[in-house]
Amino acid sequence: MSYDDNNIFAKILRGEIPCKKIYEDEYVLSFHDINPQKKIHALVIPKGKFTDLDDFAKKATDKEIVGFIKGVNKVAVKLEITMDNGEGYRALVNIGEFGGQEVPHLHFHLFGGEKIGKMVQ
Ligand code: 5GP
Repeated sequence: MSYDDNNIFAKILRGEIPCKKIYEDEYVLSFHDINPQKKIHALVIPKGKFTDLDDFAKKATDKEIVGFIKGVNKVAVKLEITMDNGEGYRALVNIGEFGGQEVPHLHFHLFGGEKIGKMVQ
């Protein structure tokens, strides 16, 4: 699947649509999900144009991959949900139709602030 420049997260990255920003650096942007499923529901997206995790693994530079993973950690630290400064959280990535991915720009969901419950419902 080729990258769709008009997907909602591309528009957020370009500043065309507002978001409740949590964190931003050279590699990632993080913001609160518009329809939170848990007390804390953050999204972390890479700044580059990647449709999903496999596309990212295939095309991203090593710097982008490291920057993204470190960015996820920075968001979790900021939200105080890591095991160092909180009670833990769930990171989840949906990929493609069977994975339930709705927005075709790679994103990690971070759920926290309460017990998240079953792995898959
Ligand atoms: P997916 O199903 O693709 O893994 O998750 C997409 C997520 O993006 C959903 O949890 C949905 O609530 C969230 N979302 C969709 N549109 C917007 C938006 O315009 N702003 C924000 N902050 N989140 C959005």
